[in-house]
Amino acid sequence: MEINKDLENSLRRLELLNQVAKDITSTLGLEPRLGFVCQSIIDIMGVKGVSIRLLDQKTNRLELAFACGLSEEYVHKGPVEADKSLAKALEGTPHFVSDAPNDPGIQYPEEARREGLVSVLSLPLKGRTKVIGTLRLYTGEKRSFTRDEIDFLSALAAQGAISLENARSYDALEQQDKAKSDFIMMMTHELKAPLMAVQGLLDVMQKGYVGPLTEKQKELIGRIYRRIDSLTEVSTDLLDIYEWQTKRPDTQSIPLSMNVQIQRAVDLFKTSALEKGLAMDVDLPDQDLILMGSEDEVEKILNNLITNAIKYTPKGGNISLALSASGGSVVFMIKDTGIGINDEDIPKVFDDFFRSKGAKKIDPYGKGLGLPFVKQIVEGLGGTIRVKSEEGKGAEFILSFPPSDGFSTHE
Ligand code: ADP
Repeated sequence: MEINKDLENSLRRLELLNQVAKDITSTLGLEPRLGFVCQSIIDIMGVKGVSIRLLDQKTNRLELAFACGLSEEYVHKGPVEADKSLAKALEGTPHFVSDAPNDPGIQYPEEARREGLVSVLSLPLKGRTKVIGTLRLYTGEKRSFTRDEIDFLSALAAQGAISLENARSYDALEQQDKAKSDFIMMMTHELKAPLMAVQGLLDVMQKGYVGPLTEKQKELIGRIYRRIDSLTEVSTDLLDIYEWQTKRPDTQSIPLSMNVQIQRAVDLFKTSALEKGLAMDVDLPDQDLILMGSEDEVEKILNNLITNAIKYTPKGGNISLALSASGGSVVFMIKDTGIGINDEDIPKVFDDFFRSKGAKKIDPYGKGLGLPFVKQIVEGLGGTIRVKSEEGKGAEFILSFPPSDGFSTHE
């Protein structure tokens, strides 16, 4: 039985080490993972509590990252000075105190007594280049730790430290990225007002309020005006994407009938298609296919795809839309008989600012921002988008939304 218990314990240690090693590459949800590690240490080592503290270089204090088995009062007893009780661990070696309430090296002996803590083992969390914090184990009775136990905990702390360092660099990068986007968007927004003011002045000149203009001057002013239009459109599109990206987590998803959404979009664009000499047909199933999302998102997807189909299909062509349920997924297809996309360009159409040569010829003022945005929205809704096309033979965009908890088909 003794051997069995030992084996079981070793197995659990290995499992925990394995789990923490896997966590190294994971970037999300640090808190639940720390909780799991702390609780597992308590179970495996039979200790009263565990804490993980990270060193703040500026204040030289150890800030709490996670604790379990300890009271709120004890955990928040006051600032933990790095060079007092944890100096040894911060030098990189495990440090053991057998009687914390009576040890002169302990910073809060009275609080330790009140909490019922007796022995304390502190292990360094060694990052790639320096110690980044400590892992501490607290016992409720006087006990020591075997070499074997310390080796296991040191290995665990080493793996955990790298995982923590990775998570912190990831957070820092995310923050930098957000700050950069915020700045670009603020600049984009600020640019719009002066651009519109310039257009206003051009308008005044164009209308001859400041003196007569030659035909050449009128033509040049018209070209400047259109260039500015194009710039303001890029700003509006970028701000639209940015707004969606920042608001997306709070967007309320509601069940939407894709049949209704598609019919509405077709009604909206039918006239412009007809005016261009294009036929537009739509094939909707009898049953309502439901997608969880916001009307605004679904509108953006459909409007972008339909406008592209109209734009890139020459007169006399055809645009067909179809909705169906296939293998539990809701599949939406939009197919045109337009200019199509060559093999080399197909993988690039979802890249920001990409535009094919043929597209530039048809519409020199396009931005190449529509499809990347559509892809982001589709993926945000849990779906996928792909394109099938042959140059000169039209393009087909296929969107598929897999079944999920909030996603169903209604009879
Ligand atoms: P834009 O239409 O402003 O160029 P998009 O991001 O919507 O920007 O599309 C990117 C590119 O993908 C287009 O420039 C074009 O080359 C290609 N594309 C998109 N839709 C179609 C389509 N229906 N037929 C042919 N090419 C298309």
